[in-house]
Amino acid sequence: MNINFLARPNILALKPYTSARDEFQGEASVFLDANENSLGSTTEGNWNRYPDPYQLKIKEKLGKIKGVQVENIFLGNGSDEAIDLLFRIFCEPGKDKAIIFTPTYGMYEVSANINNVDLLKFSLTADFQLPDNVSSIDSLSTKTKLMFICSPNNPTGNLIDRKSIEKILNAFKGIVVIDEAYIDFSPESTWINELNEYPNLVILQTFSKAWGLAALRLGVAYASKQIIELMNKVKPPYNINESTQQLALKALNNESQLREYVQLTLALKATLIEQLQGLRQVKRLYPSDANFVLIEVGDANGIYNYLVANGVVVRNRHSVVNNCLRITIGTESENKQLIELLKKYYL
Ligand SMILES: *Cc1c(COP(=O)(O)O)cnc(C)c1O
Repeated sequence: MNINFLARPNILALKPYTSARDEFQGEASVFLDANENSLGSTTEGNWNRYPDPYQLKIKEKLGKIKGVQVENIFLGNGSDEAIDLLFRIFCEPGKDKAIIFTPTYGMYEVSANINNVDLLKFSLTADFQLPDNVSSIDSLSTKTKLMFICSPNNPTGNLIDRKSIEKILNAFKGIVVIDEAYIDFSPESTWINELNEYPNLVILQTFSKAWGLAALRLGVAYASKQIIELMNKVKPPYNINESTQQLALKALNNESQLREYVQLTLALKATLIEQLQGLRQVKRLYPSDANFVLIEVGDANGIYNYLVANGVVVRNRHSVVNNCLRITIGTESENKQLIELLKKYYL
């Protein structure tokens, strides 16, 4: 598959911005090339130099952990930057289309709207799996360049069946994006190991969830070298700031902490699920492979407002799944507060 056939011609022809640090190669101790403040920073620490535009140290470390080459990794200012770049690289505004499976993560649609790209929306099945008719979509005649599959899916929490994703990967001629923001909490393995099989596959992961670094804004895309090169060409030159780079590098040396957090979160989730199941206010609890659960209640708006009034915020998903609330797994005491409040609702 030729990725360049899918990309927008203006992006292929684009001559990217070359920063001062791009043009210089080799060793030096005097940097008079980037108009930085040579004297220092106005606050503690050394922040007066521009950061590495390609974040090589993080990519090398991350590559070792994930078993991926540096050339197959893109780092973004959150996964949201990667999502936006994919629209900008592959979808001609007002002409090309993208596919999403609803209900799903809201950012795909926002990003499509920002870029003036029409979406073909397919409903997930009753148990939130991919519908059967997808692999027959002709990407050429429909001008469909991109497809987003979120697994585990947000807000439903479930993994998407591997066989059905595989079927799509073998049939769909556009870019297939698998968003694995919650993969660390799930029992299934990442699609990263399949990268070499599919030049049109993009896998999104993030430091915002299991790594516990949402405030740093660091998302990752894994893909073929061709796709990563296009993303590097279009991204803002210094898209990952230096403090994020330093802190993420530290976190990557601390992977055992992530494993601990995941195990603890899963244990807290099991307890929370048990307690939710015992509540008459909970009509249905959907199976979850993530660090949140989706529950159906009698009156989502009512319960949501009641919880907020008592200082507990959950995500009201009533507008996307009827009478459903999405609940992030909290600490032991946070989960307890939630359960106590739910018990008291309408008592
Ligand atoms: C939370 C989340 C992300 C993470 O986005 P960042 O911009 O990296 O914080 C990505 N995809 C899904 C489905 C999410 O729920």
